[in-house]
Amino acid sequence: MGAFCLQISFLILSHSASAPRHTGTKSKGMMMMQHYDIAVVGGGVAGLTAAIYAAKAGKQTIVIEKQERLGGRAVTNKKKGAYFNLGGHALYHGDALATFREWGLSLQGNQPSIDAYGIWKGKLLTLPMSVKSLLTTPLLSWRGKIELGSWLAKLGKMDTHRYDQISLREWIESQFYDPMVRNLFYSLLRTASYVAAPDMQAAGPVLKQLQNSLQGVLYLDRGWGTIIDELREIAIKNGVTMMTSTKAVAVEHRDGAVQHVRCEEGTLVEAKNIILTAPPAVAHQLVTNAEATSLHAWREQAIEITAACLDVALRRLPKPKQQFIYGIDQTVFLSNQSRAACLSDDGAQVISVIKYQGEEKNPDKDLHELEQTLDLVQPGWRDELVAKQYLPRITVYHDFLHMRRQQPGPAVPEISGLYVAGEWASHGELLVDAATASAKRAVQCILAREYTEGKPKDAYRRIV
Ligand SMILES: Cc1cc2nc3c(=O)[nH]c(=O)nc-3n(C[C@H](O)[C@H](O)[C@H](O)COP(=O)(O)OP(=O)(O)OC[C@H]3O[C@@H](n4cnc5c(N)ncnc54)[C@H](O)[C@@H]3O)c2cc1C
Repeated sequence: MGAFCLQISFLILSHSASAPRHTGTKSKGMMMMQHYDIAVVGGGVAGLTAAIYAAKAGKQTIVIEKQERLGGRAVTNKKKGAYFNLGGHALYHGDALATFREWGLSLQGNQPSIDAYGIWKGKLLTLPMSVKSLLTTPLLSWRGKIELGSWLAKLGKMDTHRYDQISLREWIESQFYDPMVRNLFYSLLRTASYVAAPDMQAAGPVLKQLQNSLQGVLYLDRGWGTIIDELREIAIKNGVTMMTSTKAVAVEHRDGAVQHVRCEEGTLVEAKNIILTAPPAVAHQLVTNAEATSLHAWREQAIEITAACLDVALRRLPKPKQQFIYGIDQTVFLSNQSRAACLSDDGAQVISVIKYQGEEKNPDKDLHELEQTLDLVQPGWRDELVAKQYLPRITVYHDFLHMRRQQPGPAVPEISGLYVAGEWASHGELLVDAATASAKRAVQCILAREYTEGKPKDAYRRIV
């Protein structure tokens, strides 16, 4: 009974006036609920984006999120006045930024400067990020400088799709003669994508991301939790029902069409369409007889990419000029996000240090490497420490853009009304751009199906 009341109160708390009412009938330990047009499993960026698109198209929509708070990997934790994202987060000029701007999100923050150092053989050396630093960097010979300079001049106009079918290593090794230019590209492209797997990673999408980064990135004041707060507000304003602290445990279907989502407390959420934004392995587990569907291939092909992230808030920077560092012979990256965004209540500087993990994962060794990076860049940082957060192995991608991959979704073709979205359901986008773009694709697909079945055409026109 306690759980039942709790469930109802979550619904009521976040329920908006225009959403459908719940019947609340309880039979055999189960609460039947009113029918929704669209049920979205997962309340991260993909889930919220899908819900907003669906609600704006006039669909009665519910988001089911297992955690108490919405946001998934885009939450921000506040510790001793400092705002920590789950590892360093930068908003690129891609699908997510365009979507958030279209919806009027405030996105307060700034573009960080790109003056950077590289770590090479235990030393910090100026990286060639501008004409001046290209000319002065001790990292490159004159021949290397010319090779890099002429390539960077072409990057903005390059057709990156030409390289979608070759690996990053093949691309780098065939493009550059100078070994240090090659090293720099491995480092830049690893950082742009968060992936340290050049033999498997498709070159085209990550080159596109590098191209996008030429327009600068955005660091957000008070972190990415602000995006979630605003998305939640927009969703609720458009009539989306939020059901938090509720884990979906099954997606049931009959005669080839979805029926409902079964939640842990016995709640059934009936819906004509269900969008799963949980990881591929969870999506597979939720759907009965998933082995007979494309979910099986998507789970089997998935290669997870993880990172170890150390975030620290420092009273002051021991070395104020050393704020942005790429590992060249180490797979690490450091950025003082406070150089462009307000990330503390009292002026503390929030620095993110990331180790891009390959197959070998050793939390203690990774922490040591991250702390050594801080020792090199900000010696004496321990004396200035206000707060810290260590995430030894956080998933950046449940599946990344590798060479052996089929594009998942948006529809699960074997079950009518079932869709997938989320960072792993990418069709060429990276990171959060994949989350928003896949969410949009799923809703478009639902509306397009209704359109072809002769249902109202207005909603489809509104989103296309
Ligand atoms: C360290 C790190 C750094 C990053 N940096 C950047 C960056 O700089 N730029 C960038 O663009 N992106 C970055 N990202 C990526 C970005 O954060 C993610 O792509 C995005 O947040 C993923 O959103 P999502 O909705 O696809 O997945 P998630 O955020 O994982 O959301 C999935 C949700 O589903 C819920 N869920 C799962 N199972 C169930 C269930 N059974 N029932 C109900 N709910 C369920 C989960 O609780 C979760 O809330 C970074 C990610 C990490 C980890």
